[in-house]
Amino acid sequence: MKHNLMIVGPQGVGKGTQAALLGDVLGIPHISTGDLFRSNISLGTELGLLAQSYMKSGNLVPDMVTERMVAQRLMEKDTRNGFLLDGFPRNILQATWLSGLLDGKQDQLDHVIVLDAPDEVVMERMLGRGRADDTAEVIATRLEIYKAETEPLIEFYGSIVLHVDGVGAIDDIHRRVLVALDQA
Ligand code: AMP
Repeated sequence: MKHNLMIVGPQGVGKGTQAALLGDVLGIPHISTGDLFRSNISLGTELGLLAQSYMKSGNLVPDMVTERMVAQRLMEKDTRNGFLLDGFPRNILQATWLSGLLDGKQDQLDHVIVLDAPDEVVMERMLGRGRADDTAEVIATRLEIYKAETEPLIEFYGSIVLHVDGVGAIDDIHRRVLVALDQA
């Protein structure tokens, strides 16, 4: 069965971890724009250099740059049976662009998994994660951008959204995701 999925949630909610687990179970590639940018940075590519300054401050990399990278990734053969997008789209413009891209391929999104967690939980986890760029200020910027730009996606995707409680142990949350997909 083909699954075109997306996972949405504030940074620190455990989105990446859940996406990796789910991608494995369903046999579809987990496509994280943050990971793609980070690997470009370690390889020292032009794209990496460009993305770096935005990422450091917690701001979004410009839409056109991100979209081009996503378009290339979605053209790869391993997306034949579906994909799990993580960290893309981050705003309504990117979401509209994605709808156009998928329509063009006569394809569509099946479900959008939203991982829910209160701000305090997310802040605590991010500070504990200890990535060099995770200062309190940068974390606050990311959370603000999430609320202003990314959260409106939940309304945008309306009926295909599946809310999952993102508080708890990794395995429990993974099970909740599977149940939500199963019941959808
Ligand atoms: P993440 O690993 O998803 O937390 O992403 C890390 C950083 O990469 C973000 O703070 C942004 O600077 C950048 N980034 C990731 N995905 C996107 C996107 N869809 N649009 C713009 N910037 C992004």
